[in-house]
This record gives sequence, C-alpha cells and structure tokens, in this order.
Amino acid sequence: MSGQGEFALIARHFAPLTKGVPLAFGLTDDAAMLKPRKGQALVVTADAIVEGVHYLPDDPPETIARKLLRVNLSDLAAKGATPRAYLLTAAFPRDVKEPWIAAFARGLKQDQAHFGVHLLGGDTVATPGPATFSLTAIGEVPGARMLRRSGARPGDLVCVSGTIGDGGFGLAELRQPHPDLTDAQRRFLIARYRIPQPRTRLGPSLLGLASAALDVSDGLIQDLGHIARQSGVGLSIDAAAVPLSPAGLAIARGDPPARLRALSAGDDYEIAFTVPKARLKAMEAAAAKARIRVSVIGRVMKGQGVTVLGPDGTPFEAGPGGFDHFGR
Ligand SMILES: [Mg+2]
Repeated sequence: MSGQGEFALIARHFAPLTKGVPLAFGLTDDAAMLKPRKGQALVVTADAIVEGVHYLPDDPPETIARKLLRVNLSDLAAKGATPRAYLLTAAFPRDVKEPWIAAFARGLKQDQAHFGVHLLGGDTVATPGPATFSLTAIGEVPGARMLRRSGARPGDLVCVSGTIGDGGFGLAELRQPHPDLTDAQRRFLIARYRIPQPRTRLGPSLLGLASAALDVSDGLIQDLGHIARQSGVGLSIDAAAVPLSPAGLAIARGDPPARLRALSAGDDYEIAFTVPKARLKAMEAAAAKARIRVSVIGRVMKGQGVTVLGPDGTPFEAGPGGFDHFGR
C-alpha cells in the first residue's frame, strides 16, 4: 500500500469522511486547520488499538472502527468537551483486502453522523505486523473549564452514569454464553462490549457541577483510584448501589460475586464523577435533560484509596491491584 495505491485508497474511503469540513482540504494537503469557536478551548485525547490485543482478528471492521472512535469520544465526554473532529492513523496489514477498509470507513461514517464529528486528517500506512489504529479526538470546552480528575473534596458524592459491568459481561459472552440469559440480553451485552455509548450529551452538562470526572475504561474501582490519587482524597463505594443493567442483574442473581466482578471489569465507557452535595439537584436535572441515568454510589472522604463496602457490609481495600479482593 504505497504510492498510487495508498492515495487512491485515501481518496476513495477516507477523503469522503471530511465532507463538510473545508479546512481538512479533502486530505490533499500536508495538514488541516481547526479554528476553535469563540471563547472555546480545544481538548485533545488519543487512543490506539492493535489487532489481537484490543480486538479479535475476526471482529467486524465496522465495529472496530466505531469502538475506536467511541472510546476517544468517551474521554472527551468525561472532560466536559463537545466533540468536533478527529485524526486517524491507520496501519493496515500489507495483505488487507479493500472491502475490509471500505467496511472500516463505513463504520466511521455512520458514527460521524451520529456524533457530529468529522475526519480532519491523519495517515495511512502498510505494516508487516498486526493492524494498528491510532485516533486523536479533538473537542471543545468553554473557557478552560475542562473537568479534571483532581477536584474531588471530602463530603462530595461519587456518581456514575449508565450501568456498570456490561462490557465485561459482553466479552465473557463472546467466550462462553451464560445459561441464564435470554438472546436479547446476550445481544445487549455483546453490543455494549463492541459498541460503547460515550456519554457525549451528559459530559458537557457536568461542567460547573462535577468536581472531578473521568471515563470508566479499565474497571470502575481502578479508575476511581485515579480520582482518589489526583484529588488527594479517599472514596467509599457501596457495591450494592452500583447500577447493573437487567442483563447484568440476571447474571448476578445466580452468581452474587458477579456484582463485584462488574466493579473491576473494563470497557464500560461510562462517566464516573464527584459532585458537591449542594449541586446534587442541579446535576440530577442536567442528567435528566441529557436523558442519561446517573446513580450515587458513594462518598468522598479524607484519606486515600478506594474502599468498597461489599453486599455483606464488609469493607474491601481496593487499591492498585485490588482486583484480587474480588477473587478474580
Ligand atoms: Mg479515560
């Protein structure tokens, strides 16, 4: 994939993704331009995925592309940023077939329309190794008010959007179907794993309300540990208050430890955040307006680390590497 082949591929499959963004110059120049709107600061984040590490070689190319874009939009959402554009660097295996690339670009096109973002630029190369994709997403926040991990204060409430554990349960379904699930529940969990739902409507509405925030990608407890560390506080989480989906509940009914596994499974792409009590009502109103469920799952305290109160009321210390406490 070099010379004319590469240019033709870019022109056929990726240049159309810049439609509506004149300053991308149809991917025909060395660089693109992006002007922040008046009073806005740009927020930038990047994530890469590798075949065989972050996805399976036979995963559908559409969902690989959509997940790549969505995990980055999830980071923007957790920072309160509204997504605008993205850069994509794609390293395709030398023997990749063009229909695979076409399907990958179709997945991007579908989600661009859904989230109102456009391809701005990037690079396409051939690699002797596994397929590797790096996406840089660019969003905007008013002023310089990006939500940080460092603002939680003792007395604040700990909250999370949506439901937790579905991505992990979905990955488990792909390996071995759970006997207690209906087909619809199984499809729901696998979709949650393959096509995350970045909370792009909720995130910007948390600006000025949340004191700290991040997106849940590596497991709720591990990620909350970042807020605890960066804020210099301790977090106390009530495991029973962590929201599970109906499918997650169906699994936890016959297997109570599944509730704790959900707390450490990855691929949730929800927003975990803290909010001062005085702003709880305003936050709930903002979440209702964004039509995103938000649950209060714990409290910020003086101290350090994340303490989880299990279903039996026993506290676990769940610091770095605390997964062992959940018997994983
Ligand atoms: Mg993140």
